[in-house]
Amino acid sequence: SEGPSGYRQAVELEFAEATKRYPGTDSAAVDGLSLTVPAGEICVLVGPSGCGKTTAMRMVNRMIDISDGDILVGGKSVKHRNADELRREIGYVIQQIGLFPHRTIADNIATVPRLLGWSKAKINDRVHELLELIGLPSEMATRYPTQLSGGQRQRVGVARALAADPPLMLMDEPFGAIDPINRERLQSEFLRLQAEIRKTIVFVTHDIDEAIRMGDKIAILQVGGKLAQYASPSEILLHPANAFVEDFVGADRALKRLALLRVSDIPRDQLGTANGGPEIAHDTILRDALSDLLQHGELHGRVVDEHGTAIGSLTVETLARLAKA
Ligand code: ATP
Repeated sequence: SEGPSGYRQAVELEFAEATKRYPGTDSAAVDGLSLTVPAGEICVLVGPSGCGKTTAMRMVNRMIDISDGDILVGGKSVKHRNADELRREIGYVIQQIGLFPHRTIADNIATVPRLLGWSKAKINDRVHELLELIGLPSEMATRYPTQLSGGQRQRVGVARALAADPPLMLMDEPFGAIDPINRERLQSEFLRLQAEIRKTIVFVTHDIDEAIRMGDKIAILQVGGKLAQYASPSEILLHPANAFVEDFVGADRALKRLALLRVSDIPRDQLGTANGGPEIAHDTILRDALSDLLQHGELHGRVVDEHGTAIGSLTVETLARLAKA
């Protein structure tokens, strides 16, 4: 079946009590992990070092064998699948993407389609379409990996993983080795790309900010491979399931919470009646409203609705209370 942009439709991924015990170890690396990633969603696996993120991800494409429980791709258990065949169906991107140094960018991207025996014309079309999707000029097709920046190489890695149009992608810290500024650019470019291709994606990171940014849902794992919470970013920020999640999300949770709420989310009866101060549009994000007030050196501002009519005042105190709530 074809998706809206001619790409194959994504599939659902289900971890069903998936468990990994490495030989010679007492405790499980992944312990009874159960969660479902709906087709076309990004699930971010996040948690402290050693909590089992990579293990959980690699069980999906059978780079690691499942000890107990199961993983279903498109409703089918991966356990009885031929591992090579499965890997050709599942895109895989890692932190230091290994491009073939003596092959051009185009040849690198075409690796799997060539294995699959696609025609030259079809491969060529796909390569140029992907270069455009990842935002690299088509002249780059004939360059070699050493002639690219680190960020460009990671983009090529993403294109290579997408070339065979996999219904599912595994991404293990794909932007982890990129400097913060370029990382943010790659993140937003990737989200734009994902809006078009709508793959089912498992994305591993240890960076909670990246998780919040990238995830439709976030799975927070605890050391020992137990799932602490699986929920949307806002759910996790607003309602951490337990002390571990609260701690992991961190001290700047308050600011992150303010980044999620808009002035219009505040019940009217919590707006004050003070006059003066800068004007704050009702759809302003609370964090921006706060920095605006602080920049103006004001402790409150006037909230106006879409018609510019004042509907109350917002105080720094109220913002502080909302951040902590
Ligand atoms: P990081 O963020 O540091 O990459 P991670 O969350 O991806 O960590 P994993 O690499 O999945 O964690 O490791 C989970 C646990 O399993 C760790 O305690 C690790 O030491 C252990 N482990 C990983 N690979 C093996 C192996 N081949 N044999 C034995 N133990 C292993």
